[in-house]
Amino acid sequence: PQLANQIAAGEVVERPASVIKELVENSLDAGATRVDIEIDKGGSKLIKIQDNGSGIPKSELNLALSRHATSKLSTLDDLDAILSFGFRGEALASISSVSRLTLTSRTAEQTEAWQAYAEGSDMAVKVIPAAHPVGTTIEAVDLFFNTPARRRFLKSDKTEFTHIDEWLKRIALVKPEIHFTLKHNGKQVRNYRPANNQDQYLMRLAQICGKNFAEQAIEIDCQHEGLTLSGYIQSPFFTSPASDTQFFYVNGRLIRDRLVNHAVRQAFSDHGTGELASYVLMLEIAPHQVDVNVHPAKHEVRFHQSRYVHDYILQALQSALMQVAR
Ligand code: ADP
Ligand code: MG
Repeated sequence: PQLANQIAAGEVVERPASVIKELVENSLDAGATRVDIEIDKGGSKLIKIQDNGSGIPKSELNLALSRHATSKLSTLDDLDAILSFGFRGEALASISSVSRLTLTSRTAEQTEAWQAYAEGSDMAVKVIPAAHPVGTTIEAVDLFFNTPARRRFLKSDKTEFTHIDEWLKRIALVKPEIHFTLKHNGKQVRNYRPANNQDQYLMRLAQICGKNFAEQAIEIDCQHEGLTLSGYIQSPFFTSPASDTQFFYVNGRLIRDRLVNHAVRQAFSDHGTGELASYVLMLEIAPHQVDVNVHPAKHEVRFHQSRYVHDYILQALQSALMQVAR
């Protein structure tokens, strides 16, 4: 099972950013409203995630670390579960097979917290009492310490940090109500406070996409026959330097899609804004209208009625841009 875990780890755990992605998604699945991320040396030395979610019962700590143990998929036709973050039950087992992992957790029902430790092949975990508020802390130390080939594949601390930071931006834009912090080498470098109204969201947008974009962005809020498009796009009157603020989410997942790109570009170019316009857009669509490629590294979707979705996006943006132009 150890080898199987390490092989699976190759799929799930490519670098510190992918460890953080899996762990934070678990925190969100557990209903956390606050997630504190701490890393040392770009995450290669330490990755520590603390959340205030539901916690893991003492009796399930061992199980959480074993392969294919998931508490999240009860029936196969549970489409929401498939669309929800992680459903494979492999992340914790994989991460613990390539790091020294400590899991500390407390549920609201327990008066005490418990801690489990797993190190590489030593999967025999010992559970001991610990101090911890309701929620979970997972600490992964010395990532890839026992898989030197993969450890060598890691880039500089700065590059690994950038991957983590970019991923955090993406999730922070689409989870405004969650408070995220990020500490690197003992210093807090990001603090995304919860955004529960539009002003607070614009503040988060300014932190992530720049003050210029946030100050002049046009709000999109459009609903039509089961499709909802919301978010912010760059004003046609605003000429910014080329920006990498181009985020499109489908049901909460960041995607890259030709059809979507085409619709957005066309709306902007019709207004002479050019193709490098910035946007942060969220599309909500019935889960059965879209196939999400579930490979963790891919960001692809396939819409069943692709022409319809394309035209819907195009028209929503065109009418927003037209109102501003008047
Ligand atoms: P999956 O998320 O696909 O179910 P994981 O290996 O990521 O598989 O996690 C295994 C299980 O451990 C989860 O199903 C969940 O029950 C539990 N778990 C992991 N992280 C947390 C957390 N932060 N809070 C509560 N439960 C968690
Ligand atoms: Mg998971």
